[in-house]
Amino acid sequence: MLTSGLHSAIYLQCALVLQHPREAENFGRSIAEHFRTENIQTVAAPAIGGLIIGHEVARSLGARFIWTERENGKMVLRRGFSVSPGERVLVVEDVVTTGGSTRETVAALQASAAKVIAAASIIDRSSGKADVGVARIALATLAVPSVDPDLCEACKRGEPAIKPGSRKGR
Ligand SMILES: [Zn+2]
Repeated sequence: MLTSGLHSAIYLQCALVLQHPREAENFGRSIAEHFRTENIQTVAAPAIGGLIIGHEVARSLGARFIWTERENGKMVLRRGFSVSPGERVLVVEDVVTTGGSTRETVAALQASAAKVIAAASIIDRSSGKADVGVARIALATLAVPSVDPDLCEACKRGEPAIKPGSRKGR
């Protein structure tokens, strides 16, 4: 069971590469290279998945780093974080599947009148299909099958759905 609620035979655990700071730094720099000329002031990431990679992208761009998190199910800026009207923000996530977390983060920033320039992730497992409402890049785009639970063949066979990710209770 993916964070998105979809079922898939394959789970991509970015934490396993991001546990190595040097690799995280390299991925961060690779994402940052796409936005060097965009005058990004702030990188924002949905917690928890986007925290480490977002921080590394911000470091490489010399930008500020903030994150969104869920409060009563809604993705919001907390901890005193804020953005100014027109502030140029890049949204960074580890893995995009449906784009839900990224899209919600974009919406939270736009609600504060920030200018969201683009979104980026290490992995896009939607084969490029995920729509987050702004331009989007990924370091690697994969076509990894994922299905609605109602259509899941493994569930029909009675196999238990396992949730290896971080978000609980959905
Ligand atoms: Zn299933």
